[in-house]
Amino acid sequence: VALNRAFRTAMTGVSKERPDLAASPIPLEIRISPLPARGSDDLVCSLFEPLGWTVSAERIAGPDGPSRYVSLTLSGLQRVADALAHLYVLIPVMDDDKHYWVGDDEVEKLVAKGGAWLASHPEKELIARRYLKNRRSLARVALARLAPEAEEEVVEERPSRDAREEALERPLKLNDQRMETVIAALVAAGARSVVDLGCGEGKLLARLERDKKHFDRIIGLDASVRALERAADRLKLHLAGGPSAERVKLLHGALTYRDARWREADAAVLVEVIEHLDADRLPALVEAVFGNAPKTVIVTTPNAEHNVLFPNLAAGVFRHPDHRFEWTRAEFRDWVTAIEVRYGYQAVLSEIGAPDETHGAPTQMAVFTGGAQNVNDIDAAMGRDA
Ligand code: SAH
Repeated sequence: VALNRAFRTAMTGVSKERPDLAASPIPLEIRISPLPARGSDDLVCSLFEPLGWTVSAERIAGPDGPSRYVSLTLSGLQRVADALAHLYVLIPVMDDDKHYWVGDDEVEKLVAKGGAWLASHPEKELIARRYLKNRRSLARVALARLAPEAEEEVVEERPSRDAREEALERPLKLNDQRMETVIAALVAAGARSVVDLGCGEGKLLARLERDKKHFDRIIGLDASVRALERAADRLKLHLAGGPSAERVKLLHGALTYRDARWREADAAVLVEVIEHLDADRLPALVEAVFGNAPKTVIVTTPNAEHNVLFPNLAAGVFRHPDHRFEWTRAEFRDWVTAIEVRYGYQAVLSEIGAPDETHGAPTQMAVFTGGAQNVNDIDAAMGRDA
């Protein structure tokens, strides 16, 4: 940003005083030291050499071995505006310390907009992805405030945190049953495009992706970048032979804000997600989901009554440490009914997993149908701004 501000005039390549000089390449030598640059020194060369620079990068020694800084000298015949554009984009690319998930579409957009030098650069994919990651670190700070439930710290530990719920439910093969039931409901509803809200690591997405007969377009949304990275790996999103960007898309977002990016989806599913939000944030989630008016919405959540039947779960303890609540069937029914009335859906309730006569099955599901899928209609009906 500082670079951008300081050199804005120069970067535009327009000079009032010396228009000829700004437009023509001149011999330049640029020294930057210390410059944060992680990874191999070859990377620095592979970034600048294709652009016509002669590169000299020396790693600066730290107290215990090589530091993460280099001393960089670039020389070449360049227009000043080009030289500044190269530095503006490539400096953050060299300091790539964090892992942020970046969507293919964003990469394509940046390459398309990034000027001829980027479009023809052999490392354009890497440059675009890392540049965007760097910007993402700022966006993440904002998003963490919007979706505190999905704080990265929590998700980092997810494998161990998930252990209790998995150990409890594994003997029942509940996770598989849940996904099969949800997919059957989607097929029955005739949904060809599906958004998985709170998709986590993408287990359901992977199944939907494989089912080309029933599903054309699959979108996953989650606030956890970690989870999205794992989902991208599972789906082989960035690999040759993986699904196309038209078929599968991952979105980084918060469930409590209306999101136009998935507005066209026929169906939205929330599989074991609502219980991760504080109860006082649920109305915002409901408004964000049903306010987008998908034709079908499927919600699953634990049935708290069933918990007494888990031999290893102490009384009053939730199945997962991240759960903010677990509802009885009556509590779930009340929530579902209120949504039917307010948003004009019809819901069918059912249970997933082996039923118990007294306590019911481990998971409960609601399938809402009859969504207008025309946000303007329902906004008008409810007197809201779109
Ligand atoms: N549907 C998946 C994951 C369930 S865990 C499955 O069945 O396996 C709940 C998921 O919801 C987590 O991945 C968490 O990151 C996400 N999540 C929780 N609160 C969120 C919010 N406010 N916005 C977006 N995602 C959220």
